[in-house]
Amino acid sequence: MNDFAQHYSLLLGLNEDWLIKHVDLDIARQQVEIQLEHNTQCKPCSPQCGLPRPLKNHADERIWRHLDTMQSQTTIVARIPRTNCPDCGVRNVHLPWAAPHGRFTLLFSKSRRLSKDYEILEQSSKVFVYLTMVSQMLKRFY
Ligand SMILES: [Zn+2]
Repeated sequence: MNDFAQHYSLLLGLNEDWLIKHVDLDIARQQVEIQLEHNTQCKPCSPQCGLPRPLKNHADERIWRHLDTMQSQTTIVARIPRTNCPDCGVRNVHLPWAAPHGRFTLLFSKSRRLSKDYEILEQSSKVFVYLTMVSQMLKRFY
């Protein structure tokens, strides 16, 4: 893995199960696409029983919206490995960056929730300031 790939691997917090295949930077469109590849040297774990199981195949390519890289919209692209577990059947493995069936990364979803919480807090503080001003005005006149 070159320094550039290692840089992105560290930023994404990937373990040895995933490799950076390619990072496509499109300056004109302000987009970064990070393509990940499952490391076939690592045996995937069944998502249900958690045991290492043989690799069946890889699901079709999927895209997840991730946090922006500077001002560039960033996506992760990967094919999810599927295990062949004698107890659980053929299943997609758990991904370190996204919930099952999620279209956004965990960090992106968390950031959105924090942003909404901040908006509510900001609106609440404005209402508090307004009520404090009204209260002070009422005390002056009555
Ligand atoms: Zn299993």
